[in-house]
Amino acid sequence: EVRVRFAPSPTGNLHIGGAHTALFNWLWARHTGGKFVLRIEDSDRERSTKEFEESIYLGLRWLGLLWDEGPEVGGPHGPYRQSERLDIYHSYAEKLLNDGLAYREGEAIIFRVIPGEVVSFDDIVYGHIEVKSETLKDIVLIKSDGMPTYNYAVVIDDFTMWITHVIRGEDHIANTPKQILLYKAFGWDVPQFAHLPMILGKDKKKLSKRHGATNVLEYKDMGFLPEALFNFLSLLGWSPGNDREIFSIQEAIEWFDIKDVNKRAAVFDMDKLRHINQEHIKLMDPQSRLEAVKPFWKALGLPFEQHDPQYLAKVLEIMEGRGQTLRELAEYTDYFLTFEPVKARVDREYVETSKDILRPFCEEMIKLPQWDTKTLEEFARRWSEERQVPLKKIAMPLRILLTGTKVSPGIFEVIELLGPEETKKRLAYWEI
Ligand code: GLU
Repeated sequence: EVRVRFAPSPTGNLHIGGAHTALFNWLWARHTGGKFVLRIEDSDRERSTKEFEESIYLGLRWLGLLWDEGPEVGGPHGPYRQSERLDIYHSYAEKLLNDGLAYREGEAIIFRVIPGEVVSFDDIVYGHIEVKSETLKDIVLIKSDGMPTYNYAVVIDDFTMWITHVIRGEDHIANTPKQILLYKAFGWDVPQFAHLPMILGKDKKKLSKRHGATNVLEYKDMGFLPEALFNFLSLLGWSPGNDREIFSIQEAIEWFDIKDVNKRAAVFDMDKLRHINQEHIKLMDPQSRLEAVKPFWKALGLPFEQHDPQYLAKVLEIMEGRGQTLRELAEYTDYFLTFEPVKARVDREYVETSKDILRPFCEEMIKLPQWDTKTLEEFARRWSEERQVPLKKIAMPLRILLTGTKVSPGIFEVIELLGPEETKKRLAYWEI
């Protein structure tokens, strides 16, 4: 059985790089029907916090990366926090001391690296890697404060948790030979290693805050869908090999193979993420889309509760293709929910110059017996032909005075949706 793990240190939020690692582990577990283990590497007591731990859980759960074993869910190989496993680390270190493979110095316990050995492994992604043992220093196992080091604890944990594949960031390649020496010293089988390519910003520098948000939960707040971020992250270092760029989590599970991961550094391209997000928004059914946008209307203080759900669903429907995030969709539809932001956006002078042309048009429009896009449009076309006025001389001021923007969907669709009452009210406000 495949057993993989994600082993974050709770010294920060779940960032893009961590989520990427977690996701590849999770995909490999789900693809193979194996287990995805979460382990909290909180042996750095100074920098680890409960808040970061909680925020990592939130981030993973938001992305749908639920763990089969780990904190909060339990499992047969716990405890799953390093801070709760100190006796385990000590007893294994004693073993190496007794076998004469480690020594004490101060209160610390240190593993002796014997020169003249070649340590090698075949990384699933990076291929064959070998180093001479004389290039490695002796390995501290337990520090004088009694806490284990990363390189030691990770070996004890991966062994006692029956991990078969260690999938993690390429920054750990240099640690792997040290870890392999420890496996060998205990006489244990070495798991398979797959190191994931580095994620770069568009400037080809290692992804950092300078490139934008790094905390996964910030993407939630910006209005990205978890399935879109999932889709996007899965494409950093992997592709399904079938020319598909937009796919579901279920499809990714089916197609994913750890052997297909590419070692070339992957570039985090925000425009691509936005595009993928938009495509996933389009794929949602109207009801789910509506539920997804509501929190963003709420955050903007827009009174969506005053409208019936059918109206709101239609509003989002006619926005199709506009707005790449849920937040943008919420912003771009503000005028459907309330007239207030329109008043604030429109320039008084513009109103004055538009009145003369709009007044006679609107007087007739509001008398129309039918209030649908087709009727409104035909009426407008006829009106502009009869008076030799270009249609856009009507449509643009109408759009601006009703929506406060130049980029709404077709203005007659907007007017149909606003309805005759609301349209009249808004025109009356401008004294038209
Ligand atoms: N706690 C380590 C990290 O966050 C885990 C590395 C590993 O997966 O072995 O980098």
